[in-house]
Amino acid sequence: MEELVKRYARIISILCFCVVIILASIPYINEKIANVISVCKERWEDVQQKKEREVYERFLKDTKKEEAKPTDVMIPGTVRIPLDSALDVAEIQFDNDFMNHTLTVFFPNMTEDILDKRPMVGSPDHIDDLEVTADESGLYVQFITDTVIEPTVTYQDNYMFLKLNRPDEIYDRIVVIDAGHGGIMPGMVVNGIKEKDVNLDIVYKIKALFDEDSSVKVYYTRLNDEDIPLEKRAGLANDLNANLFLSVHLNSYGRAYNSTNGTMTMYNELLGEENNRSKELARIINTALVDALGSRNLGLTKGSSILIIRESEVPVALVELGFMSNKDELEKLVSEEYQDTIAKTIYETIIKALDEGF
Ligand SMILES: [Zn+2]
Repeated sequence: MEELVKRYARIISILCFCVVIILASIPYINEKIANVISVCKERWEDVQQKKEREVYERFLKDTKKEEAKPTDVMIPGTVRIPLDSALDVAEIQFDNDFMNHTLTVFFPNMTEDILDKRPMVGSPDHIDDLEVTADESGLYVQFITDTVIEPTVTYQDNYMFLKLNRPDEIYDRIVVIDAGHGGIMPGMVVNGIKEKDVNLDIVYKIKALFDEDSSVKVYYTRLNDEDIPLEKRAGLANDLNANLFLSVHLNSYGRAYNSTNGTMTMYNELLGEENNRSKELARIINTALVDALGSRNLGLTKGSSILIIRESEVPVALVELGFMSNKDELEKLVSEEYQDTIAKTIYETIIKALDEGF
């Protein structure tokens, strides 16, 4: 009996020892598994990248070949993409993700085979990389470009001739409007009201006015609840060489509601006092808003500590429309009527600024 107990005790202690060893090695096993996964992922990404490079390199090679036999139709400065004869060109879709320098053109019901018979050739201007993918719905051709581009197309002989233009080649007046904050960055939050949402509501009202006006091309850094890095916001204005760049924000002071109120606008004081276009822009926007809203005029504020102001190479102003920490002003800032006045004033002031040489 004693022998049996001893045996069981030995078995149990061996089992315990094994369990301890297994438990102790779980982090090690996890780490190994994670390593294997990460190596596989890297390999997969390498293969994908190689595939992308192959598409781009083939495009350059085919272009060279095509240049040697200029019998086929070609429009200089364009990319020639073959079209299926059954395709209705009205169904081709363009998705211009200008914040990420990526243009995707979707050709419904087309397959990759078409590129074997009639290769994609043409001007590599602005193209950093090229990707072709297909699924059961059709063919996607994706251009990664070196800057913001605007596509224009011509159709001829069952080909699309796609031109990737710099926006300032096709638009006389370019404006960038930025709704401050977004995504995980709410800005100030008062009573459940998030600054990022009010900024965006106001920008949508400004957009509605510009949408009716074809004399200005406006780019918006965000039109949904997204956290866009500040470098990208200023980068967009710089890439576009925009005539002007306006960022829309609300102010706040202290933790509880208080009496501080008013409108102020920030500019880049590092540009000096003489002929400072940022300060000039800030001044005309601030004056127009104070006049239209009847808000207290807090004037202009030095803003070079703010990244988008400091990094912007085009005339920039950041408007703080009013204080969320002031109960009365917050009520106004979230009201349709006040927002309509803000939008109309900003729209009209921008048009006036452009007319006056911005
Ligand atoms: Zn803000």
